[in-house]
Parts: sequence; structure tokens; C-alpha cells
Amino acid sequence: MKPLARELIVPPGSRISLADIDADGTHGVKKEEASELLAKNLDCLSVLQYLLYAEGSRSLLVVLQGIDAGGKDGTIRHVMSGLNPQGVRVTPFKVPEGAEKRHDYLWRVHQAVPEWGQIGIFNRSHYEDVLVVRVHGLAPKPVWQKRYQQINDFERMLGENRVRIVKFLLYIDKEEQARRFRDRLEDKTKNWKFSPADLKEREYWDQYIAAYEDMLRKCSTQEAPWYVIPANKKWFRNLAVSQILRSELEGMKLKYPEPAADLSAIRFE
Ligand code: AMP
Ligand code: MG
Repeated sequence: MKPLARELIVPPGSRISLADIDADGTHGVKKEEASELLAKNLDCLSVLQYLLYAEGSRSLLVVLQGIDAGGKDGTIRHVMSGLNPQGVRVTPFKVPEGAEKRHDYLWRVHQAVPEWGQIGIFNRSHYEDVLVVRVHGLAPKPVWQKRYQQINDFERMLGENRVRIVKFLLYIDKEEQARRFRDRLEDKTKNWKFSPADLKEREYWDQYIAAYEDMLRKCSTQEAPWYVIPANKKWFRNLAVSQILRSELEGMKLKYPEPAADLSAIRFE
């Protein structure tokens, strides 16, 4: 594994205190070198995606979580831009509605799991069911408490069925969130992103941090690890996510399948 992946992974079973993580941190990477490194990673991701598709027997599921204005959309825009749209599906998870409300919370999630050969990106995910649901008491504690184990079981089952899962928590600090909200208020091109509901959520900051810490402690596993990405600096966030995805895909040792016929015997005019 490349050093950034090693530094940012949440080791299974460990307890992470987000207060100890510097959201401004850049892990020794300099801004001047970042764009070249990102470009190289995006080139590699494109080749790796082609291989994943050609192999056609495994898939990659990328889970993105983060507080409001944490940069989930920006990460998708900047890191996935080099991928072939035919092989990627982004699924946003919003407040459950319609049939989603009439099923267990993993029902909608399972349907969005990428088929073999594909990359799936979750913009929010089943983790909302132990985050917003816990913070706002949308389900009783005995209900959401059981979900950590259920999620681990679900993710292990997917892993055993050739779905590699990689999970990113984009971590900005409270000051950076304030800067980004202010920016949304002041910049005409960003006004549309401003939601008064986000300001209300900000009041629950500490409860969200506690819920994130529990999620990281209970649900970072060998088969589906969590990575905490210092995300105040967008250039570092993009570089770190691209680098980890690259090393995860490289770690899969993808191979072209055997040709369907003995190609050396084929002749045509
Ligand atoms: P956004 O990502 O800004 O479009 O907002 C989506 C909203 O849906 C967020 O406020 C999430 O907390 C909320 N959401 C997503 N999943 C769930 C869930 N399972 N239960 C309740 N709210 C959810
Ligand atoms: Mg929002």
C-alpha cells in the first residue's frame, strides 16, 4: 500500500478521535506538486478501470461520507472525471421516500451495489442510518445500535461476492464549514448550494462527531476499511482520495481475461 493509504486508514478495531486529526493536514505533500500527482493518479485510475471492466468479475464500491459542505460532490467531480462514464454509477442517498420507507434500510443500498466490472460511488450511504438517524433520534437507540453489526455483516457478504468496498470520511473542521457556508452566501454561483437546513445541522456538530467516531471504530474492517481524509484543503483531499483508490485497485491485481478463442489460429482476408 502507498504511504497515504497507510497513514489515513482507520486500522480495524482502533479508536479514532477526530479532534486529534488536523483537517488542514497535508501529510508532507506540497501544494506545488499536487496537481501533477493528481493527474498521474487519474491516468492510472482510467487504465485500472478499463482492466476492471475487461476482467468483469469484480467491482469496486466507493462510499463517501462527510458533514455538510465537506466536499463529497467536489471529490466526485475532481477524482472521477477521468473515468469512463459507461463503467461508473453515482448514487446519492437522500431522505428515504416511497418504497424506500417501506423496506429495511439496506434495501435501497443493495440495489445500488455496482455490478461486476463496474465502479459504484455512493454520495452518502447506508451509514446515514447510524448518523443522521442517530443524531436526530429518527429511530430508537436499540434499532440503530444493531445496525453497526448488520452493516459489517452486509459488507462482508458483499466482499465475499467480489465487491471491494472503500469508504472515505471527508473531514473538515467547524471553521472550514463556516467559511464554505459564507462562500455559498456570497458567491452568486454558489447561492444555489446554500440550505438553511445545513445551518440547523451545524448545531449538532458535536453529536455528528461522536456518531462518526463510533462508525469508524465499529465499521472499519479488513474487507471494507474506512479512510479519514483531512479535507479542508481541496487539493489534498482530491489527491488523497485518488491515491487511495489507485492503490486499492492496484491491490486487486486485475487481469485481462483469457481471449475467447485461440487467436493465433484465426485467419481472415
Ligand atoms: P444532500 O446530500 O445535501 O443532498 O442531502 C441529503 C439529505 O438526506 C441529508 O440531510 C441526509 O442526512 C439525508 N439522508 C440521507 N439518508 C438518510 C436516511 N437514511 N435517513 C434520514 N435522512 C437521510
Ligand atoms: Mg446538504
